[in-house]
Amino acid sequence: MFNFIIFGPPGSGKGTQSIKIAEKYNLAHISTGDIFRKNIREKTELGHKVKSIIESGELVPDELLIDILEDAMNQHANVKGFVFDGFPRTCRQASDFDDLLNKRNEKVSLVLALDVDDNEIIGRLLKRAEMEGRPDDTKEVIENRLSVYNKQTQPLIKFYTKQNKFTSVSGIGSVEDIFNSICAVIDSL
Ligand code: AMP
Repeated sequence: MFNFIIFGPPGSGKGTQSIKIAEKYNLAHISTGDIFRKNIREKTELGHKVKSIIESGELVPDELLIDILEDAMNQHANVKGFVFDGFPRTCRQASDFDDLLNKRNEKVSLVLALDVDDNEIIGRLLKRAEMEGRPDDTKEVIENRLSVYNKQTQPLIKFYTKQNKFTSVSGIGSVEDIFNSICAVIDSL
């Protein structure tokens, strides 16, 4: 199984690249953000729990994540592996995830970050706000999401570097160029 984590701040292009990677390498794409948005749209109990958290740009509590992940993985039998997009986002999630994968006799194969600086991110997210109207893409919430990323998610770089699994490519340029750099890393494994 190829368990690939795409990493980077909000707006770094993880979603776009994940879809392309999943297609090319025949992997299932699991985006925890998409799962939450679907639950909010469908007004489920989970959607109700997380709506205001997501709209404020904070993170959904760690305790909720691992079951959602396990569930999502179980929905895809017979795949060659997964692209995890937006998960894990905290050290607790990463260590719960290692336990979950261990239990399944699997492990994280690679964590690849898309490098994009804060100014570029803010510009991109504001543009996305205009186009898609996501309620968590307002300027205030964007700034909060970035600060949450810097405080709670960035420490994962150390976590995965220690495991020798972390690498990064530039997230600036055309979608195709970035995709090719990611494929070059994957193909070199
Ligand atoms: P995303 O689409 O990945 O940017 O996620 C949108 C929002 O969903 C985030 O700002 C968080 O509020 C929530 N979320 C998504 N994934 C996670 C996660 N792994 N841990 C906590 N909250 C999450």
